[in-house]
Amino acid sequence: MKYDDNNIFAKILRGEIPCKKIYEDDFVLSFYDISPQKKIHALVIPKGKYIDLDDFNSNASNEEIIGLMKGVTTVAKKLGISSIDGKGYRALANISDDGGQEVPHLHFHLFGGEKVGKMVS
Ligand code: 5GP
Repeated sequence: MKYDDNNIFAKILRGEIPCKKIYEDDFVLSFYDISPQKKIHALVIPKGKYIDLDDFNSNASNEEIIGLMKGVTTVAKKLGISSIDGKGYRALANISDDGGQEVPHLHFHLFGGEKVGKMVS
């Protein structure tokens, strides 16, 4: 499957669609989910064009992979939900159709601010 340059997160990255930004650096952009499923529901996306986690782990540079992994914790700290601050959250990536992925640009959901409940429903 080819990366779709017109997916919603590509448009957000290009600044064509607004978002409620939480954090940005050379490797990631983080913003609030438009339809929050928990008290805190953030998204962390890589800046590169990767469809999903398997595409990313197969094709991204080590620098990009480290950048995204560190970005997740940086955002969690910023939101005050990091385990380093005695809290917790769920980081989740849906992968392709069977995984329930709707937007074909890799993203981690960060759910927190409350008990997030069952892992899979
Ligand atoms: P997926 O099902 O692909 O893992 O999750 C896609 C997520 O993107 C959903 O939670 C959905 O609410 C969120 N989303 C879809 N369109 C937009 C948008 O335009 N802005 C923001 N901030 N989130 C969006």
